[in-house]
Amino acid sequence: MKKSLTWSLTAVTCATLALGTALPAQASTSPAGATVSGPSARVVPAGSTLSAQGRATLDSIIAQLPADWQARRDAAVARAHIEHSPAREVLDRSVANAIDPGDYVCNPTPLDGYVDQILSGVDNDSLITLALAGVLDFPTYEAIFYGSPKDPDFALPAAYAGTLTTTFGYAQRFWDVKLEDIQLMAMHGEMTVDVARMTRMVKLFYGLDDAKAVKLARQLVGIVRSDPGLRNGRNPIFTLNAFAFSAQGETDPLFRGIKDKMVFGDGILDALKALGLNAVGPKAVLGHEMAHHVQFEDNLFVSDLTGPEATRRTELMADAFGSYFATHTKGLNLAPNALLQVTKTFYDVGDCQFTSPGHHGTPNQRQAASSWGIAVAASGDPLKVLPSLRLDAKFERVLPQLVASDAPKVPAVPAA
Ligand SMILES: [Zn+2]
Repeated sequence: MKKSLTWSLTAVTCATLALGTALPAQASTSPAGATVSGPSARVVPAGSTLSAQGRATLDSIIAQLPADWQARRDAAVARAHIEHSPAREVLDRSVANAIDPGDYVCNPTPLDGYVDQILSGVDNDSLITLALAGVLDFPTYEAIFYGSPKDPDFALPAAYAGTLTTTFGYAQRFWDVKLEDIQLMAMHGEMTVDVARMTRMVKLFYGLDDAKAVKLARQLVGIVRSDPGLRNGRNPIFTLNAFAFSAQGETDPLFRGIKDKMVFGDGILDALKALGLNAVGPKAVLGHEMAHHVQFEDNLFVSDLTGPEATRRTELMADAFGSYFATHTKGLNLAPNALLQVTKTFYDVGDCQFTSPGHHGTPNQRQAASSWGIAVAASGDPLKVLPSLRLDAKFERVLPQLVASDAPKVPAVPAA
């Protein structure tokens, strides 16, 4: 069963940004409950509306699309099991085992402020239009369907290539499962100003013929280019995630031949740098993503949990495994100061979307899972790496503690 998982940031932005109610909800969840959210979920300020000119532009785009364009867009997204928008889950009362927000301390992290900042100079019309057309997710899907480590369009950024490649090699050799066939690559928002690449994505999402696809791609590229805040695609919002993808066991012919992947967006690397986590953050994220590949190989996505609780379990496990790898002498063997940065990285990307199947855990929970992984490595045999299934068994025992209520309780007042 294929799954794709993102490192990130499901709801990071949902505290401050949410899809307006006029916009169509779009969401999908993989059968295992492993979900990903693309950036479009987080870019449309609640209650915002298009200007008259913006509406005219959007209308002209919709006129070029097939009548069922929203269903096609959602299907394109669903095929990769990438969950798009937490908006529907927020509204969807049928989400099983919804977690009680009253049980938890949960506040915005510095990443929320970062997202506000990168969107502050972006025109509202272009943001809504690109989100609806699926363009904010095009870099992610392009990397899944067409990305290759040998293709310069997906090359790791020079400033990170050495660190990521080295860390990736360590992580592949660290675990007791087969990880050597995973491809490491990057995604870059500049694809949104490349007509040929945008044409390919428009065809993939909407099934347009060549002429129509080129025409629409040109218009979409024009929108990106005309908004200085989008910086010709270099605004981090286009690539604010990293993810693990596996098509293992997939029967959909669309996925035939797609290799296992780990993809880093420029945007998440920019974000980590802005948060003061440049030295260690990318390594921590890589450790987390490789843990998802361990989960694929060990079939650890299967559990009794569903919905947000299922995602929270696998995400906190990835934080714990990634931190174990970062700490262990056979892994990255990071110094104590760097390990503090690892826990801060996971804290900063925690979210408060308790009802979303994309819920990754609160900042406190993610920090706690990371600290637990560090402690297991630091207190264990420095010469022996635990088998991944043994580490999982330990994790499953500690999970209830990691997700226990941390909200202060007001004691009941005894009757007079
Ligand atoms: Zn993850």
